[in-house]
Parts: sequence; structure tokens; C-alpha cells
Amino acid sequence: MSEHTCDVLILGGGPAGSTAATLLCESGFTVTVLERESFPRFHVGESLLPHSLPLFDRLGVHEEVKALPHTRVKPGAFFATADGSKVVEYRFAEALPPAIPHAYQVRRDEFDALLLSRAQRAGAQVLHGWEALTPQWEGKRLTGMWVRDPEGQQHLFRFRAFLDASGQKAFLATRMGWRFPYPKHKKVAAVSHFRGVWLPPGESSGNITIVLTKAGWFWFIPFADDTVSVGAVLDVAFWQAQGKAPQEVFQRAVEETPEAARRLANASPILPFSAIQNFSYRVTKLAGDGFCLIGDAAGFLDPIFSTGVFIATTTAASAAEDVTEALHRHGRIDAADLAPTVSLTRSLQKTFFSFIRSYYDQDFLPFFFNPRPVLQIPAAIVSLLAADVLRPGRRLVAARFRLLQLLAAGQKLGRLLGKPLVPPLDATPADAGP
Ligand SMILES: Cc1cc2nc3c(=O)[nH]c(=O)nc-3n(C[C@H](O)[C@H](O)[C@H](O)COP(=O)(O)OP(=O)(O)OC[C@H]3O[C@@H](n4cnc5c(N)ncnc54)[C@H](O)[C@@H]3O)c2cc1C
Repeated sequence: MSEHTCDVLILGGGPAGSTAATLLCESGFTVTVLERESFPRFHVGESLLPHSLPLFDRLGVHEEVKALPHTRVKPGAFFATADGSKVVEYRFAEALPPAIPHAYQVRRDEFDALLLSRAQRAGAQVLHGWEALTPQWEGKRLTGMWVRDPEGQQHLFRFRAFLDASGQKAFLATRMGWRFPYPKHKKVAAVSHFRGVWLPPGESSGNITIVLTKAGWFWFIPFADDTVSVGAVLDVAFWQAQGKAPQEVFQRAVEETPEAARRLANASPILPFSAIQNFSYRVTKLAGDGFCLIGDAAGFLDPIFSTGVFIATTTAASAAEDVTEALHRHGRIDAADLAPTVSLTRSLQKTFFSFIRSYYDQDFLPFFFNPRPVLQIPAAIVSLLAADVLRPGRRLVAARFRLLQLLAAGQKLGRLLGKPLVPPLDATPADAGP
């Protein structure tokens, strides 16, 4: 057994962990990142949002992200019904001003390795193949972590601050009983990369496309070499009814979704299929004396609007600021020092989770697929899709979104009375509001 010390120990070298590591190193702290996998490694979460770009600029990685071999410019998003009869395109350039007109599709093996090497360049010690095992508490304060190295030896790391960026593993929340599944939102995703997928022509070919199906939805995320990430996010009940391997369940969902079948007619997978399960959960405690949870480790609902990396990096940057301020001020971090990050995380989750829940509401979808060009509602939807939720003007976005929700409530009432406000959409994912 050996003992190590650092100012900040970060668990996880994904976008949250590496963002926090870079910013904390730049503030002059000693930072160690524990990452149990070897990079580069496959990860889902390939479609980014425009309002992540200012943080990429701040980290000094924007040009490098753009230059990665598979990065493709993403000017917007298509949403299509299962039979392809209705398609709506939201273009980031048409957001409420000032718009950031594009984002990127990235392969996460490349993207995550780039962000982590940026942290290393800033001075972080990055330990690949090292796995956190057991937290060590002194009263209510987290002061140490037992860790296993790649040879199986155990080490004790002592620190002044600990950031849990362990993603869906939600290391601390799982061990401490703070992680709870959303009982009505049980989904499974089957994903692979394909060659030969049909892509829309022209400028919008870099868009993400979301295709509805009765059991959930598909994503199509094109990369620079025209390979495409395709995933099916399906109700667990549909999955269990099939009782088969991910590829077969995926294929069954494709057969039920003409628009997905059309796009995949000449396509073949170039990666083994992965299944991702139990990815929707809330976390009841986000910070305490000596620690803070960031990114997916602080909760996750659903990837429909590609908000994961934005939330991960934004909460990481906020935690880095709180930790910096507290360590400079009194040499430690207390729960109260992390109040700004906890409040930001809750606010982002509230905003996006409410948008996500609306997407699973059959009465909301007709307005989403056919937004009337009044009161700048389409532009406000684009602003939400672009993650323009941090600037002071976001109240305008929120107000218009609430208007849409009111319309959905009116639609529900009308539908129950046999007089819906607008014709309903056929293919609606099963209601899964948490
Ligand atoms: C099906 C699906 C599709 C998605 N699509 C999108 C999308 O298109 N766009 C988007 O923005 N987001 C998407 N997301 C969400 C996105 O993947 C995550 O929000 C994002 O990766 C979170 O980053 P993170 O740094 O918090 O966690 P991660 O990126 O998961 O990184 C966590 C790291 O911690 C490491 N780790 C875990 N436990 C330990 C341990 N005990 N010791 C050491 N290391 C450990 C892991 O190996 C991992 O590398 C999707 C999610 C799902 C489930």
C-alpha cells in the first residue's frame, strides 16, 4: 500500500473530469485524474450542442475538436415520424439572436482522448487503468479514496477536494444510496456505427436525425467519413418482449420503423453492437464537505436532445470555479462552497428534463413537429435545442417553451373531448414521463 496526496482528485477522464482537471490545473492546483479504462475507448454521446463551443474556446480545444479525423459540422437537427411523412428541421442559425450557428458531431474515442490530453498538458496527472474502490470519510468530510492500480495494488489518495465525474457509474451516489432510477423511464439503447446509411443531401447532411418509433426513437449521427452512429432508444418492455441480443432487438425496431429501414437499407454495421441500460436516474445529494458530483455522476434522464456533454462540461467548469475560490479562501471545500454548482446543476436538469418529458408527451409533439411561426416559438425551440440556457435572455426561451406546454395541455383537453386543437401525430414514443 502506498499513500499519495494532491489538491484535487478527480474520478473519471470523460468530458466532465477532463474539463475540471484542465481548469483546476490552470488555477495552480495539483490534480490527479483516475480513469479505469485505457483511452481511446468507445463511448456514446457523439452529438454536441452549439453552446458548448464557448467552453471549448476557453479550454483552448475548439480548433483541435474541429480538426479531429471524424468531426463533422452539425448545423441543426431533423426530427422525423416513423413513416417519414413528417419531418421538421431545426437549424441552429435560426435560434433567437445571438445564435451560434453550428455544433459538431464527434467520435467520442477521439474527443475524450483530446480533452484528457489537454488536461495532461495543463499539468494533470492522469492514471489510466486505475479504479476507485472505497471512499474514506473523517466524520462527514470526504478526505481520501482507496484505489486499485492496474497491477492490483491498493493505494490511498488523500486530497483537499474530490470531484466525482465517474459518469453513469455514479460512484459516490451508488455507494452512498443517493442514486434512484426513474421508474417510468426505463429505456435501453442499442448502438453501433454503420457504413452505407442514407444521408440527406446538401448543407444539412451533418445534422443529427431523430426518428420516432412506437417503442422509442432512433438517432442518426453522421461523421466526417460518412460513417454514421445509429442508436435505438427503446422501452425496456419492448426489449424484454424480444428477449434477444442487441443487434436482433435493433433489427426488430428497424422493421417496425419504415423511415429507419429506408435509411439503413444499404447499410452495414462496422462495430459490434453495444447495449446501454439503466441510464435514467436522479441523484439526491450533489455535494458535501470535500466533494462534488458533476456530469452524469450527478444524474441523467434521456439523450433525446444530446444535452449530456453540455451538462457534463458546464457543471465541471462551475465546480472548478467553486473549488478554486474555496481553496484560495480557506484551504478546504465545505458543502456551502459548492452551492453555485449544485444550483446550476439542478437548474440545467430542470430545464432539459422538462423539455425531454415534453417530447414523450403525445400532445406536445404535434406542436414540436409543426411549430407555428408566431411569437418566435420556432426560434425559441432552436435556442433550447442549442442549449442557449446560460445567458440572461434565457427567460424569453423559457416563456415560449411554457407557451408550448400550455398548448399541449389544451391539446390534451381537446383530445379527451374529441376536439383536439391540431391533428395528433401517429408515431409517439410510449409515455415515459418520470
Ligand atoms: C444512449 C445514450 C446516448 C447519448 N447520446 C448523447 C449525445 O448524442 N450527445 C450528448 O451530449 N450526450 C449524449 N449522451 C450522454 C453522454 O454520453 C454523457 O452525458 C457524457 O458522456 C457525460 O460525461 P461524463 O464525463 O459525466 O461521463 P463519462 O463520459 O461517462 O466519463 C466517465 C468516466 O469515468 C470512468 N469511471 C467510472 N467509474 C470509475 C471508477 N470507479 N474508477 C475510475 N474511473 C471510473 C469511466 O471509465 C469513464 O471514462 C448519451 C447517453 C446515452 C445513455
